[in-house]
Amino acid sequence: MLKHKNITAFCISVFFVLVVLYFYFEVKWWFILLPILLWLIVTVWGSSEIRLGYFTKTYCNNPNEKQRKIGLSFDDGPHPITEKVLDVLQKNNVKATFFCIGSQIEKHPDIFKRILTEGHIVGNHSYSHSNYFGIFSTKKVKEEIDHTNTIILQLSGKKALFFRPPFGVTNPRIAKAIEQTKHFAIGWNIRSLDTVIKEESKIIKRVKSKVALGGIILLHDTSLKTVTVLEQILLFLKSENYTIVPIDKLLNLQAYEN
Ligand SMILES: [Zn+2]
Repeated sequence: MLKHKNITAFCISVFFVLVVLYFYFEVKWWFILLPILLWLIVTVWGSSEIRLGYFTKTYCNNPNEKQRKIGLSFDDGPHPITEKVLDVLQKNNVKATFFCIGSQIEKHPDIFKRILTEGHIVGNHSYSHSNYFGIFSTKKVKEEIDHTNTIILQLSGKKALFFRPPFGVTNPRIAKAIEQTKHFAIGWNIRSLDTVIKEESKIIKRVKSKVALGGIILLHDTSLKTVTVLEQILLFLKSENYTIVPIDKLLNLQAYEN
């Protein structure tokens, strides 16, 4: 939130200085629009890029990681395809982190339980994953977080502390809800774009080019394409001597409340 407050204060100050200059020194009128434009650009950029931690502190990697550790995260499940992802992870003895949507957990409680039984970490990824999440009020975002946490608690006995905002979007209202519900905002720094790019080879190439110590890879356990991609990524990480660890271990954060 500090970054956003500083930029806002800076833009307001420049705006008033330009207004004064306009009246007393006849600078061009459109100069006054520049701080407004700058504020808009930075705010939109800060909202869409979770790695900037523009509105709230976000955890997107461990920059201090010295060993070859990396985290795998899967969003938007549980889904029937999650089972295939779990099979691949089990075969390779890899533990990952799943950011689950509350309404999906309600549809597939057994798959959700399997994620936990097999030793993976789960986090909260809202209840509805609505396309309008970015315009929700603080109250509504809090309701989404609480609702999903209740579902997770009922099925697992655990209170999740990790929250990943849908689409990685943050703004002052989402930031406030995360802070008030005392969650860690978890992002990523290696975006596979597995739901956007059509060709598997391109997704794999993209991930390979971005892999780094302490990084967090973002995948989605909702598409068959991702299962194939995952197998290739695991092979690559193994060949590069990476150890895949759940995000709580990578970031040294507590995934659940005691
Ligand atoms: Zn998502």
